[in-house]
Amino acid sequence: MKKLTYKFSNSSTDYYLAYGISHLKEFVDQKNAVIITDENVFANHQKRFKNWRVIVLQPGEEQKTQATVDSIIAQLIMMEADRKTTLVGVGGGVITDITGYAASVYMRGIKFGFIPTTLLAMVDASIGGKNGVDVGIYKNLVGTIHQPSFILHDLIFLNSLPQSEWINGFAEIIKHACIKDAAMFRELETNSLKKYQDKKVLACKLIQRNALLKTKVVQQDEFEKGDRKLLNFGHTLGHALENQYELSHGQAISIGMTYACNISEQLTGFKETDRVVSVLDKYGLPSYAKFDKQKVFSVLKMDKKRERKEMNYVLLEKIGKGVIKIISLNQLEKIIQEL
Ligand code: ADP
Ligand code: ZN
Repeated sequence: MKKLTYKFSNSSTDYYLAYGISHLKEFVDQKNAVIITDENVFANHQKRFKNWRVIVLQPGEEQKTQATVDSIIAQLIMMEADRKTTLVGVGGGVITDITGYAASVYMRGIKFGFIPTTLLAMVDASIGGKNGVDVGIYKNLVGTIHQPSFILHDLIFLNSLPQSEWINGFAEIIKHACIKDAAMFRELETNSLKKYQDKKVLACKLIQRNALLKTKVVQQDEFEKGDRKLLNFGHTLGHALENQYELSHGQAISIGMTYACNISEQLTGFKETDRVVSVLDKYGLPSYAKFDKQKVFSVLKMDKKRERKEMNYVLLEKIGKGVIKIISLNQLEKIIQEL
């Protein structure tokens, strides 16, 4: 158990890594807190919520809307929540995104913290302060950047996590390894999903390493002017695929990373696509997938990272070293068509 504090441009976040949720009451006043969670997390871990006021949402990305935020606000008013209230999001990325956003706007901003319960939320979604809701087909169109005042990891939540959600989380872990951490990539090559699931100590170390890797990237570039863009590796094409096909986020970015590796081979001289594909495969993720390139490209063109006729694309120079290249849309279309 250790507490670490990380400073951001105008706030700081306390990290309680490898803690237990039972310690929450030591630094959050139970009388002044409201937990937001979803039905799946609540049903599997009901006893952990004893003595806390809880708002239980329906699970799923479809709930990530302004209407849900409005209903949370109505409940907060009924509970007489005020500026001293702390909101605690206990759940996956959907819950942490909604909680951070609701807390950022309620009474012009109240304190909030996260207890991520999915692997993906532990290593990625709960970190970095981006929060918000979807508007129709537009993911995360409305939101704010506010850092949580704390993040607590309790790995007991992973005991109930479905296999598909483990795999989802590994997609982001592999992404981190590709762009920033060659040693971690080698560790992933040596180990396996099952090994991390069986050996909690290994999983715990891997989760912390990833949470801190992302934290450091965000700390250096909170508002995504430079290095933070590297975290979008696999995401440009990934988001377009996710929009068009029934894929999980992990599956979509996994295909996105495979294509980004191939584009890298042409533009940076990257030579290790096979190693990346093998690791994706080892962790149950797809790599080469057939898709309607025309259709997906038309969505990709609308990506928010597009700048006029050019696009910032995250590529690899080698494993562990991501780079951002400006590619013209024409060139990108040509490369993707030919792959
Ligand atoms: P993310 O993958 O972005 O973290 P979600 O918040 O949508 O996304 O969570 C994915 C799914 O896993 C949801 O159905 C959620 O209810 C469920 N879930 C989250 N945490 C747990 C858990 N610890 N045990 C079982 N199911 C969980
Ligand atoms: Zn992602």
